[in-house]
Amino acid sequence: MKNKSFATILLNWHKEENTREMPWKGEKNPYYIWLSEIILQQTRVEQGLPYFLRFKQKYPTVKDLANAKEDDVMKLWQGLGYYSRARNLHETAKNVQQNFKGKFPETFDELKTLKGVGDYTAAAIASFAFGENKAVVDGNVIRVLARVLGVETAFDTTEGKKKFAQLARELIDEKNPAAYNQAIMDFGGVVCSPKNPKCEDCPFTRICVAKNHELIEQLPYREKRTKITNRYFNYLLIKSDKEIVIRKRTGNDIWQNLYELPMIETPKTLKKGFAEAIVKQLGTKQFAIKSYSEETTQLLSHRKIHFRFIEVELTDFKSFSLANAQKVKLNALSKFAFPKTLHLYLLEKSLF
Ligand code: SF4
Repeated sequence: MKNKSFATILLNWHKEENTREMPWKGEKNPYYIWLSEIILQQTRVEQGLPYFLRFKQKYPTVKDLANAKEDDVMKLWQGLGYYSRARNLHETAKNVQQNFKGKFPETFDELKTLKGVGDYTAAAIASFAFGENKAVVDGNVIRVLARVLGVETAFDTTEGKKKFAQLARELIDEKNPAAYNQAIMDFGGVVCSPKNPKCEDCPFTRICVAKNHELIEQLPYREKRTKITNRYFNYLLIKSDKEIVIRKRTGNDIWQNLYELPMIETPKTLKKGFAEAIVKQLGTKQFAIKSYSEETTQLLSHRKIHFRFIEVELTDFKSFSLANAQKVKLNALSKFAFPKTLHLYLLEKSLF
């Protein structure tokens, strides 16, 4: 298919359709575009929208975000998941402030030097803010191209990545890259959705290879399935009437820089031997186990976390201390950002 006809069909559809208005659509300020793109990576629009508005309100300029405390940024991000995005967001804001005099770089190549900004985000900022002829390639775009053109190369292979990037480059309306990019992203989200695409309302129905060869379910092809690994986190609730023991997660692992309760990670579900494991962790035998929760799970992108919460009462809370942990006042606990399941547990315990 000629790029002109593909782009024309898409742009005409976009003009006629009232796709949802979003605060970042038509935005020219690269800081807000970047903010929205980072928030919307791996996040549904409905979930990301309030976060975008809160960030924009609290940090209206990149300088405001650069000057923020990391704990405050993490707290505002709490609940959105994939927390490395929040750390990169803050680091990149500081980088733009210090090394680019608070002005976002204006080209795709320069934008890509920023941490957390890959091809997709750089193309979005470069085209929307600066009109550069760069095609976005994300899951929506891949799905639309694979189905309309019948591309059978698996998109998660080196060959597939090259192929879809090249097709996207060929098909973009070079005179109107921003409108084209917005149109194909909206089209993938609204019409050619992963499940139950609206083929009856689709301007490509007549020529769409997937539709005409009953390949909608199969396209786009994926080669690898993500392997899920299981992890077993046993959390210890240790508190007095006024204080609770928490710690910051450091190291190169999930939820870096978020807070949690003291935790014992085990290779599988702990069925017995809790007391011994707790003695080892706390370095004392002066405690009583008040309760064990049932095991709950949370699925992350390629990990399944199994949670168990154990309430521990110390004989002498006052003199207790634990390496890398801190006691905080219960009435200050809500200032700290916790991973979702921990946050819900603390809420359930009326500790916020
Ligand atoms: S006809 Fe169906 S599968 Fe093909 S592009 Fe349109 S919505 Fe997607």
